[in-house]
Amino acid sequence: MSLISRNLQVVHDGIATAAHRAGRNPDEIRLLAVSKTFGVDAILEAAQAGQKAFGENYLQEALDKMTELQARQPALRLEWHFIGPIQSNKTRPIAEHFDWVHSIEREKIAQRLSDQRPQHLPPLNVCLQINISGEASKSGAALDQASEMAHAVARMPRLRLRGLMAIPEPAENFEQQRAPFRRLHQLFNELRAQGLPIDTLSIGMSADMAAAIAEGSTMVRVGTAIFGKRDYAK
Ligand SMILES: *Cc1c(COP(=O)(O)O)cnc(C)c1O
Repeated sequence: MSLISRNLQVVHDGIATAAHRAGRNPDEIRLLAVSKTFGVDAILEAAQAGQKAFGENYLQEALDKMTELQARQPALRLEWHFIGPIQSNKTRPIAEHFDWVHSIEREKIAQRLSDQRPQHLPPLNVCLQINISGEASKSGAALDQASEMAHAVARMPRLRLRGLMAIPEPAENFEQQRAPFRRLHQLFNELRAQGLPIDTLSIGMSADMAAAIAEGSTMVRVGTAIFGKRDYAK
């Protein structure tokens, strides 16, 4: 058994334990394997162990890996999630090559992705990235703008609004980790109560997965715990 497949098993066990503690069904929580900075061999190892969904932060790096995977394993079908910051001049390749985008912070970016999504592909699944750490963090739309933006994005024809994503500031312990997730969970429930058919709360990484699951995470984005430490600070 490879190290990556053992790590995947440990992460799945961690998801199940956190879910049971929260009185939730582990099947409600998907695992997104964040493969940024790791090469195609690592992705293939994870895919062999049954992992289907992969998250990437850097467009060129992701496109290079997709090309290499296509050459080496033409029959392999993976699901690609873009989770990094998006520059407006990079939206077209994202719309063309990804199945999901988690990191939409502005309506204008969403509009471009909708306009540029190729007709032969299904609508692009998207989450809005929300700033739940206030001043401490610069990424994500402000909480008080989220509802308006969500309704606007939900109307875009080539997007399918799936939910919300956030990256809180690192926190010391479980309760401190949980507090910002709770705010996002509340917003998620409010949007659903307003009639938006969203089903995805993209929260939880290697260090705060259990707290995110306690606050309703339906998709954890895990890199380090699967692939190991990244070489450089990314
Ligand atoms: C790198 C990254 C992750 C994974 O973080 P780990 O701590 O390695 O699990 C998750 N989400 C985003 C947006 C990331 O950039």
